[in-house]
Amino acid sequence: MKYVVVLIDGAADEPIPVLGDVTPLEYARTETIDQLAPYSSIGMVHTIPEGCAKGSDTANLSVLGYDPRCYYFGRSPLEALSMGVSLKDTDVTFRTNLVTLSEEETYEHKIILDHSADEITTEEAGVLIAAIEQTLGDDVRKFHPGVSYRHLLVWDQGSTSVQLTPPHDILEKSIGAYQPSGVNSETIWEFMKKSYDILNHHPINEARREKGLRPANSIWIWGEGTKPQLPLFKDKYHVEGAVISAVDLIKGIGIGAGMTSIDVEGATGNVHTNYKGKADAAIKWLIEEDKDFVYVHLEGPDECGHRNELDNKIKAIEYIDEKIIKPIIKALDSQSIPYKMLVVPDHPTPLRLRTHTGEPVPFMIYQKGNDVINEHNSYNEDFAKTTGYSIEAGHTLMDVFLQ
Ligand SMILES: [Zn+2]
Repeated sequence: MKYVVVLIDGAADEPIPVLGDVTPLEYARTETIDQLAPYSSIGMVHTIPEGCAKGSDTANLSVLGYDPRCYYFGRSPLEALSMGVSLKDTDVTFRTNLVTLSEEETYEHKIILDHSADEITTEEAGVLIAAIEQTLGDDVRKFHPGVSYRHLLVWDQGSTSVQLTPPHDILEKSIGAYQPSGVNSETIWEFMKKSYDILNHHPINEARREKGLRPANSIWIWGEGTKPQLPLFKDKYHVEGAVISAVDLIKGIGIGAGMTSIDVEGATGNVHTNYKGKADAAIKWLIEEDKDFVYVHLEGPDECGHRNELDNKIKAIEYIDEKIIKPIIKALDSQSIPYKMLVVPDHPTPLRLRTHTGEPVPFMIYQKGNDVINEHNSYNEDFAKTTGYSIEAGHTLMDVFLQ
């Protein structure tokens, strides 16, 4: 038996008046999903437990069978794993952004203008982080370059008893009010302060100013965490799995769970991504390499939710149906391979709210060869609520799927 999870990030939504009070998932033309629905179990699953952060990290942990109340260790260690940085049990990791601060005289009075420094290129950022590492790094604290503005600080024997602020939460605000507090907070603030002296007139930043781009003139340290201690997916479920995603956090969860993370060139995490590359990679893993389980993660619907792009959200769902689900099913069918497919979002990202919510999401489990036909079945939020099939503990969905 082969198992395919198609994770439609943030696809769940609310009824939308201009769509005639249906949701994007219901409105979208999803020919393949519609063919599978009558043969599927459909219901609602609560992926984010009460009190947990409403993140893609917690929600995807849950879908993969890990209760986020037990297995969430912060976002930066997941990013570290996806960057290929190996962590010791005693390491504490911090997300280190390259940001743009205003030019006020004293550091405390500077205003945070951009949490991403105009989405600086990975090449430029690599040079800047190397300069930071050279001056501020030592045997205990090490800066690692990542992608664009997203980098990493690993602190041997560090502490997570520290209060830090995500930079995207304090845009246009004076940073003095958001100084870190708690263990090692003076050192962290000192690092941020010194980074300004290293970066502000760095040749890379002078060149960016000339091009009309914002300088990456400071680091901003936040998002503390420790090495995820996830039981191996293979030990837990006795299948060999791979994760296919464009998103660091999701790759990191897969790697942390001992799964293979397959990189697909041109996978963007957006509505226009390399769908074919992702579908091909899934098919290759299952058929050519004869492995059991694949988790195909599509970020597009979530991105469109955050940007309040209704048409693109619908399009993203339609592309997933046509360019991911259809070819995978076709390939498995053509070889008469028995399989199950789970289609599920991690959380809703309603267009109206432009952010995640912790509400339950609709799921669909299709099993090839299942002869139970329910003509009325359709896969959307409204119908899923009417089936009365509800999974309260999201991390048990994987047990249901793999049983
Ligand atoms: Zn998500």
